[in-house]
Amino acid sequence: MGDARIGLVGLGKMGAPMARNLLRAGFRVAGFDLGPGAGRDLDAFDGFTRAGSAAGAARDANLVILMLPDSPAVDALLWGSPGLAAALAAGSLVVDMGSSDPSCSRVNAQRLGAAGVGFVDAPVSGGVRRAIDGSLSIMIGGREADVARARPVLEALGRTLIHVGDAGAGHAVKALNNYVSAAGLIAVSEALVAARRFGIDPHVVNSVFNASTGKNNTTEHKVENFMLSGRYDSGFALALMRKDIQTAVGFIDRMGSPGEFARKTLDVARNAEQALGDGADHTAVHAWVSGRAPD
Ligand code: NAD
Repeated sequence: MGDARIGLVGLGKMGAPMARNLLRAGFRVAGFDLGPGAGRDLDAFDGFTRAGSAAGAARDANLVILMLPDSPAVDALLWGSPGLAAALAAGSLVVDMGSSDPSCSRVNAQRLGAAGVGFVDAPVSGGVRRAIDGSLSIMIGGREADVARARPVLEALGRTLIHVGDAGAGHAVKALNNYVSAAGLIAVSEALVAARRFGIDPHVVNSVFNASTGKNNTTEHKVENFMLSGRYDSGFALALMRKDIQTAVGFIDRMGSPGEFARKTLDVARNAEQALGDGADHTAVHAWVSGRAPD
C-alpha cells in the first residue's frame, strides 16, 4: 500500500505525533478530531488536510486509522448515526490503533468484513515519547492479507511490529501488557514511599531496582522523569490506564483465568483516579500513594 491515502481520526496526544510521522514518511493524511484545536501544528505540513468530519477524513482514504480513547468511542463513531462505517468504500481498511476492547474489535472486524471493509487492530506501546520518535511497539491482530496492507503504514510509526493473531488479538495483548505495566507502577510507588518513610533515599532505591530484579518500565523510564521529579506529566492519563486494566480484567474473566491480582490492581487505580480527579497523569499514582495515611 505504498500509495496509501490515510484518514486519521483522533489527533490527541498520540494521534498528532503519529500523523506527523506518516507525513514525514510521504503519506498524504486527512485528519479529524472532535476538538478543533487538536494537532494544530499539522496544518502547516505538506500533505495534511484537516477534514470537517470523520467521514470527510475517510472520503478519499484507502486506509483509516482510529486513535480514539476507548471502544465506546470507536463503536459510536463506526455505528452511530451517521456512522463512519456506512461512509467507507468496499476494499478500504480500518486500523484501530487505540487501546480498545478485544471483544468489541472482533465484532467490528466481522461487521466491517460483511461490508467488504478490512479491519486490523494495531494498538501501540511506548507512550508519547516513542510516538514522537516513531519507535512504538505495535501489536497487531487481523487477517494476514489485511495486516500486509497495513504494514508499510505501521512501519512509519513503530520499530517493533508483532502480528499476534486474528482480529482482536492485538487489543487483547495490549490490555494485558498495560495491566502488567500498571501493576509494576503501583508496586514501585508503594515501595518507594515505604523506603522513604524508613529514611532511605528513593533515588538510591530506584537505582538498586534498576540494577536488580525489580527493574521494570516504571523504574527505568518513569521514576526519575515523572515521579520523583514531581512533574507527573508523562502524557498518559490515569483514566486511560484504569480503562486498560478494566479491559484486561474483563478479558481475564471471560477467559476463565484467575484474576484476583488484576482486580486488586483495578481497585487501586480506581481509588487513585477518584482521589486525583479528571486529567491526572498515570504517574501521579505515586503522589497519591505518598499522600495517603497508612491503611
Ligand atoms: P487523547 O485523549 O489525548 O486523544 C484522543 C483524541 O480523540 C482526543 O483529541 C479526542 O478529542 C478525540 N476524539 C474522541 N472521540 C472522537 C470522535 N468521535 N471523533 C474524532 N475525534 C475524537 O488520548 P491519547 O493519549 O492520544 O490516547 C489515544 C489512545 O491511545 C487511547 O486508547 C489510549 O489508551 C492509547 N494509548 C495512549 C498512550 C499515551 O501514552 N498517551 C500510549 C499508548 C496507547
